Amino acid sequence: MSAALRPPQEHRDELRLAAERGARLVLASHLGRPKGKVDPKYSLAPVAARLQELLGKPVAFAADCVGADAEAKSKALRNGEVLLLENVRYHPEEEKNDPEFSRQLAALCDQLFVCDAFGSAHRAHASVVGITKFVRQAAAGLLMEKELDYLTRAISNPLRPLVAVLGGAKVSDKIEVVENLMKVADTMLIGGAMAYTFLKSQGQPIGNSLVENDKLDLARGLIEQARGRKFRLLLPVDHVLAQSPDSPTTQITGIAATPDGWMGLDVGPKTIEQFSQEISKARTILWNGPLGMFERPAFAHGTLAIAKAVAGATALGATSIIGGGDSVAAVEQAGVASQISHISTGGGASLEFLAGDTLPGVEALSNAPAVRKGN
Ligand code: AMP
Repeated sequence: MSAALRPPQEHRDELRLAAERGARLVLASHLGRPKGKVDPKYSLAPVAARLQELLGKPVAFAADCVGADAEAKSKALRNGEVLLLENVRYHPEEEKNDPEFSRQLAALCDQLFVCDAFGSAHRAHASVVGITKFVRQAAAGLLMEKELDYLTRAISNPLRPLVAVLGGAKVSDKIEVVENLMKVADTMLIGGAMAYTFLKSQGQPIGNSLVENDKLDLARGLIEQARGRKFRLLLPVDHVLAQSPDSPTTQITGIAATPDGWMGLDVGPKTIEQFSQEISKARTILWNGPLGMFERPAFAHGTLAIAKAVAGATALGATSIIGGGDSVAAVEQAGVASQISHISTGGGASLEFLAGDTLPGVEALSNAPAVRKGN
């Protein structure tokens, strides 16, 4: 089971703590993308069974997250008992943030709504946003609090230098993140396929590497902006190439020597050395996105080396924050996950946060009635 599938410790602590203090717990969540239809593949019933093992107490299950059965089961709970509702995304109203559906969900919670879904906080969905309009009191859960705490400190008041490491497939997914982090970071290291759009915009040869030709002007503009402000924006200087991701033959060249017909699939040793040095000087590190096609062992070296460099810097006192499923998988694969200060459970949410956006789920909590003293 990957870290992404294991319930974070904060969730388990929180549920135990609340149950021990006599709360009657009604748990709502989604799984996968059933697109508003009942699909047994995405049922939370197995989650109820597993949660039962983890909590060491019975977990009741309602086969629909709203309606008479869910209401009856929630009303029947006694202090310290737990009820899990079926996947909220079985209803199309969830993703539409439908007010009536939000009201029905809220009806299951007579005291306090706790939102701990940081990974969904960038979605204006009923169980995250709509529900807050109908509950008596709302609060952030322990995980939500921890995520916001780490990310807010990293971009509002970081220990410097703040080094941002960005990788992954597309520049277009991360434009706002690059722009915003250029305002707050001291250094940015860009690897992965997204680096090729930047490299090509500078007239460098990139062979058949992945590129977004419609983003070349934008990439050029960002590099010029960085130069104008003396912002340290570093791109790969060498790479591991193959004629296709499946080809057994690879070679390493400097970027300027990229041969025609070959594609860059990982950063090369000089880049790893340079990036690792920058990371070792950092006091805060934000990392999102792999530096190569790391799912294939032949092209995983750069990403794993960066994972180790981030862990090494953390051991020397830096705060490291990692988001995005691939980077999280990479620190696990490199065996250094436990050495990272904070592994975010929300790839999309953390990216939107780093892009400077207000997360709808967080805004809704801020606007909802806060917990009253004495409760
Ligand atoms: P993203 O979802 O944008 O973070 O992209 C992650 C994906 O980018 C992973 O599946 C990687 O295999 C892929 N990727 C990273 N670097 C490269 C590269 N140089 N060429 C092709 N794919 C890459």
